Amino acid sequence: MPVKIDQLIRSQRKTVSLIIQRDGLLIVRAPLKMPEKTIREIVAKKEAWILKHQAAMKAAPAPGTKPYHPGNSLPLLGKTVPLTIVPGRQTTLTWVNDERLELTEAGLPHAAILIERWYRSRAKEYFTTRVTELAAQFQLTPSAIRITSARTRWGSCSGKNSLAFTWRLVMAPLAVVDYVILHELAHIEIKNHSAKFWAKVKSMLPNYTQRRQWLKEHGRELDL
Ligand SMILES: [Zn+2]
Repeated sequence: MPVKIDQLIRSQRKTVSLIIQRDGLLIVRAPLKMPEKTIREIVAKKEAWILKHQAAMKAAPAPGTKPYHPGNSLPLLGKTVPLTIVPGRQTTLTWVNDERLELTEAGLPHAAILIERWYRSRAKEYFTTRVTELAAQFQLTPSAIRITSARTRWGSCSGKNSLAFTWRLVMAPLAVVDYVILHELAHIEIKNHSAKFWAKVKSMLPNYTQRRQWLKEHGRELDL
């Protein structure tokens, strides 16, 4: 009996890719005009790999409340990035076309560390760009931008106006990320959390309280 394709997604792509979801469903992505027979032949050739992974997914512990599950998708700056497990003996996580991730089978046991490294790169990229934009808009000049791994300290501003942000923030919605950036930028002018400081934040971002509240409620979920 041939392997069952649970979902076939056609798009403007040149190759066929197989995705085993966390629930064991097989999702096949294929070029728009590729005949179904050809797709079935490709899938049939990968049968051993598919069955092995479907079994592994079933054996894996049920996903918790964490936003990350291999074979599923990862939150990134308000979007979700599909994570595909692909055959391969090298431990690699590839960021394909800035839109999806491919993790090799060999990389599965190291998924968390590889994904963290990827998140760090995304964080460095995004914070560098966004801080520069917002700093220019509010005429505040940070001396440097650093990325940390902090779990609850979302951002900080040193005495010398060097800003730091945890990579975990790129898992949060963009609006929340902007709040943290503006909060730290406001510290360039006011180094404490006085009423004057919060008035400054409010002048930069009138509805900041909702975003701050989101972090209090969901901050713990920003983890692998
Ligand atoms: Zn602060």
